[in-house]
Amino acid sequence: MDSFNGMKVPSNGQRIRIEEGQLRVPPHPIIPFIEGDGTGRDIWKASRRVFDAAVAKAYGDSRSISWFEVFAGEKAHERFGEWLPKDSVDAIREFVVAIKGPLTTPIGGGIRSLNVALRQVLDLYACVRPVRYFPGVPSPVKNPERLNVVIFRENTEDVYAGIEFQQGTEKARKVIEFLGALGHQIRPDSGIGIKPISAFGTQRLVRRAIRYALERGRGPLTLVHKGNIMKFTEGAFRDWGYELAHQEFGDRTVTEQEVSEKFGGKAPPGRLIINDRIADSMFQQVLTRSAEYAVLATPNLNGDYLSDACAAQVGGLGIAPGANIGDTAALFEATHGTAPKYADKDVINPGSLILSGVMLFEHIGWPEAATLINDGFARTIAQKRVTYDLERLMDGAQKLRTSEFADAIIENV
Ligand code: NAP
Repeated sequence: MDSFNGMKVPSNGQRIRIEEGQLRVPPHPIIPFIEGDGTGRDIWKASRRVFDAAVAKAYGDSRSISWFEVFAGEKAHERFGEWLPKDSVDAIREFVVAIKGPLTTPIGGGIRSLNVALRQVLDLYACVRPVRYFPGVPSPVKNPERLNVVIFRENTEDVYAGIEFQQGTEKARKVIEFLGALGHQIRPDSGIGIKPISAFGTQRLVRRAIRYALERGRGPLTLVHKGNIMKFTEGAFRDWGYELAHQEFGDRTVTEQEVSEKFGGKAPPGRLIINDRIADSMFQQVLTRSAEYAVLATPNLNGDYLSDACAAQVGGLGIAPGANIGDTAALFEATHGTAPKYADKDVINPGSLILSGVMLFEHIGWPEAATLINDGFARTIAQKRVTYDLERLMDGAQKLRTSEFADAIIENV
């Protein structure tokens, strides 16, 4: 197709393709963007300038991004009367890699959340959230720099595929009766929730997390679960994770148990250690033994809580990046909402979207651009040139507008 939502595909760019499971990225890839609602407009404008400046600095004229706007949220509703037009989804599928600002969840629109809808229709099964500290960012803990983890959260199952039956309804009564016949007594005035976790869903997530850890030489890989209480969902997540590590990466991984029982407490060189932690313990561990963790793989709900808790530990959601990745498409996004009260005021922190761009450049194999942005961002924070949200928590900081913060990063790129 040469147009989506009536917008012509840029003629000066080429398509990213997937061949034999690998991304093939041309020098001028077409990358769709969804600007986002509310403050999305402010942060997208600022972020795009930073991305283009970093690419130009890293590669001169030999590479550039051909940005292509696709529509979702309020802008799509105004133009097409739909919150998530099919063409927007098709464009992301066609061009393989995309980036988005935050979207308002329409109230009473029949859609639970546009973000969740996008993840589901594109089967973006891994929600990836790197959490690291940038020196100078105010944090609630003494040694925020000790935490440097990447969380792989399963994005399609568990509570995201949860089925609920409202208390007092005929369906709830039938489910209670059915479970009663299987020997499970449930109070008749209960609401019921069912959450599925499959071997397939778990193993494709854990596979992606292990590959990431091996490619980057980062470990251990920790399976986070609540298997002591829910054995056939949470406990099975752990078991299927270990099984996959053994079956597909047996010569490159070793379990924590094997390290202590067979190798005298020291992992053989080059082997990725696989361990597991119960979710509640993990929340303590990231605070008390932060440096001992690197890559975490979690079912949906544990990962939801843990991602935000870890982000808070290093200075907050305003600068926490994220990506939703599947086998055929990847969508990079700001992790915060639309913060509507600040919309079009040019004050909000664009850090989350800018650092999501860093992930995007790593994903497409342009690490030089990623490093320039990351370092430029770190330098700007260290110079105490920040937006209002950080300025109000830092001593002697200079308060910048969104656009000025982007200028400062570009200066530092
Ligand atoms: P929110 O938009 O994240 O904003 C809540 C507060 O967090 C803001 O008032 C602001 O706090 C702070 N904040 C958020 N982003 C910031 C940034 N970039 N820089 C500085 N401060 C930032 O949460 P919400 O008000 O609950 O949600 C608003 C809408 O966004 C809803 O429609 C919701 O459904 C949607 N949403 C979308 C996504 C997504 O697209 N991924 C995610 C979450 C929510 P202060 O006022 O204290 O400065």
